[in-house]
Parts: sequence; C-alpha cells; structure tokens
Amino acid sequence: MSKNISCQDDHDPSALTLEQAHERIAASIEPLTCAEWLFIRQALGRVLARDVRSSIDVPAHRNSAMDGYALRGEELPAAGETRLRLAGTVLAGHPFADKIAPGHCVRIMTGAPLPEELDTVVMQEHVRVEGDAIVIGSGHKPGQNVRQAGEDIRRGGVVLQRGRRLTPADIGLLASLGITEVRVSRRLRVAFFSTGDELRSLGEPLEPGQIYDSNRYTLHAMLSRLGVDIIDMGIVPDRRDAIAETLELAARDADVVVTTGGVSVGEADYIKDILARLGQVDFWKIAIKPGRPLAYGKVKQALFFGLPGNPVSAMVTFYQFLQPALHQLMGENSRKPRTLRLPTLSRLRKRPGRVEFQRGILVTDEKRGWAVQSTGNQGSHILSSMSQADCFIILPLESRGAEPGEEVTVQLFDGLV
Ligand code: AMP
Ligand code: MG
Repeated sequence: MSKNISCQDDHDPSALTLEQAHERIAASIEPLTCAEWLFIRQALGRVLARDVRSSIDVPAHRNSAMDGYALRGEELPAAGETRLRLAGTVLAGHPFADKIAPGHCVRIMTGAPLPEELDTVVMQEHVRVEGDAIVIGSGHKPGQNVRQAGEDIRRGGVVLQRGRRLTPADIGLLASLGITEVRVSRRLRVAFFSTGDELRSLGEPLEPGQIYDSNRYTLHAMLSRLGVDIIDMGIVPDRRDAIAETLELAARDADVVVTTGGVSVGEADYIKDILARLGQVDFWKIAIKPGRPLAYGKVKQALFFGLPGNPVSAMVTFYQFLQPALHQLMGENSRKPRTLRLPTLSRLRKRPGRVEFQRGILVTDEKRGWAVQSTGNQGSHILSSMSQADCFIILPLESRGAEPGEEVTVQLFDGLV
C-alpha cells in the first residue's frame, strides 16, 4: 500500500524526533564548573554544586510529640490504672535538670526534651489529674509519642544532593541544620535578540506591515523565572552584517545566545552562512508542532539556540529544549517534566507524523474530577492561546487526534519552571 505523505500526514523523513533532539542537546552539554557561596536566603532556585551534609542530628534530642505526661514505659499498667507522682514540668527549650525517681512522671510540652530516664508520653487528655499525681489507664504503648534524636536527619548524612535546585522547604531545612551558606553553581548569562525587519520595539509607532516584538518580552519573562542573568540585545534587522555583529557581541559575554526568527526554510540559508563563519550550528527540522525549525550549536564558546519566530513556537521550543539545556548547564540533576493522563472534553484534531503541543486548560467538576479542554485555535501565531492555557496537551507522533472522553497526556505549565 502506498502512503500519501504530503496530504494525509505530516511525516518528514529528514526530521528528528523529539527524543532525538533532546538526546543530541543533552549529549553536547557540559555543566558549568564555576560555583559560588551564597547565604541561604539568596539561594532559592539555585542549584547545589556539592552535597550538603548535616553536622547535627535532627531532632537534636529526644522530645515529646505532644502536650502530655512523660513516664517510664515499663510503669504503664497492663490492666486497670496506675498512679504516678508529678515531679515537675518540662517546657520546650528547658531541659529538666533533676533525676526522676521510679513512680514519678513529668508534665511535658510538645518539642520539650525528654528527661533521660523517661521514654514514653501519654497525651494530657488521657490522664486524670488528682492533686500532685496523675492516674493513667491501660491501652498505652511504651515508647509512644516520642520523637527520637536523628529521626529526621542523621548527623553526617547527605541532606540535599548536589544538582538539586533549592526550594523553599530546602531553605528551611538548611536553616534547621544551622547552615548559613551553600555552594551553588554560578548564575548563567543568557543573551538574546529578535530578528526581523517587520519588528518594532514598544513605544515606536507601527507602520503598515509592522508588528510589535513580543518574543523578547516572553523570553525575558521565562528566563527571569529561571534565575539567569539576562542580556537583552534588542531587535536586529534581517541584514547579514547586523546579525553577524550582534551574534559575535552576544557570544563574547554570554554562556548562551538565543535568537528568535530567521530560521525557517526561506531564511535559513543566509543565517546559515553567518553561523558557519562564527561557529558550529545545525539546522534541525524536528517532528513537533509547533516549533519545527530549530537551530542548535555553538557560536564561539557560547551555546546557541535559534528559536522559530512565531510566538507560540518560540515558547514551545523554549520549554522543550532551551529550558532543560539551561538546567543541565547549571548542573541540575535531570528531571522529566511532570505529565498527567486526563480525559479531554474537546475533540482534538491532528495529523500523524509530528508530536503536537496543543494548548489546554485544566477544568474540574465534582462528578468527573479533572479533565482538560482545548483553548481553541492552535495556530503558532496565536499567543493568546498560550496566555489562556495552563498546560500543553501532548499528542504523540502517530496520533490522529482524540475524541471527547479519551485520555490524553498533559504537561502542566507549573511544572515547567
Ligand atoms: P520567522 O521565523 O522569522 O520566519 O518568523 C515567523 C513569524 O513569526 C512571522 O510572522 C514573524 O513576523 C513572527 N515573528 C518573528 N519574530 C517575532 C517577534 N520577535 N515577535 C513577534 N512575532 C515575531
Ligand atoms: Mg523573520
């Protein structure tokens, strides 16, 4: 059976698959070796350059998990009741100095250190106070309601691994260990510019046929979230000398140079010449939609990404290729973007031959739970579809779309940053 490639599907035998493109990029990147010390308050979102070990046990001492009475587990009654005399009260931050004789207990607060002789806490609601004694019934277990020293973290143990991007919880964890500074990889410097004679900067009037440059703003926003140093080099017209000059300048200062526009088939040829002179760049057709053309390689010693000009394509290729590459450069341990399987409420149309990143909106109702619906028009120039969306609906290479009720793969925007 012969296959009609041009009309029925989007197969292009010379295109790379999404996975091949990922692999080639990943294989070509060496993580930065430069690192710096930062106070933990400045380290949110940065990547650890070495393992962090704990120099203390956490908790540092055995302590009570609740407000109640601490006692010897062996003195709990197997049946009936036991009466213990109160020897005093232990508050958090105030260890009990005296020895506690058999037949005695102490009142204890949550987090307060357990006196050495005692090993069990009974909740205050479970005892009867009678003068300077308490009465406890049966049904309690020796050792209950006690947090052991080192139960959370052992002294000397690795708490956070090299390559971890620090979260708010990590910062708190570091503080709980008394750690004030951490060694993190240095900030990346990313330079970018837009190419296109039709582009105007904000504040300039638009002549017929001209449009405002939005990609630089989108890029600036996405890069800001990654915590990199941003070098915005503006708009460069479609002129050989101007592009060559800007590229050279960008590569001098930056670890990574990003352009948008000018890599589609019609334009690729003359940019190819420039890039061939300045570095080693491949022009890839990737079997994805949107975002098929991507230029990738090196300009001087800087990594180079030539993203497509269409605003949605630029964002898709940023999230799928540039962002993981930046993570890798920063030394971050690789992590797969999180995906979910959810039923679609919309009918999704697609031709086989490319992986599609359609824009979706998560919806929920009490009966059916979470589902996803399409934003509608999926044109790669419809930036409002990205703005409305909170996820990509990823339709695999050979898919022919999906009917309402069918499960599809969803990648949350939240998990992308
Ligand atoms: P290109 O990849 O240069 O062929 O551009 C593809 C489409 O994206 C064209 O319609 C361009 O006008 C548009 N485009 C390119 N760069 C930008 C930009 N920086 N902001 C908004 N649209 C752009
Ligand atoms: Mg262009």
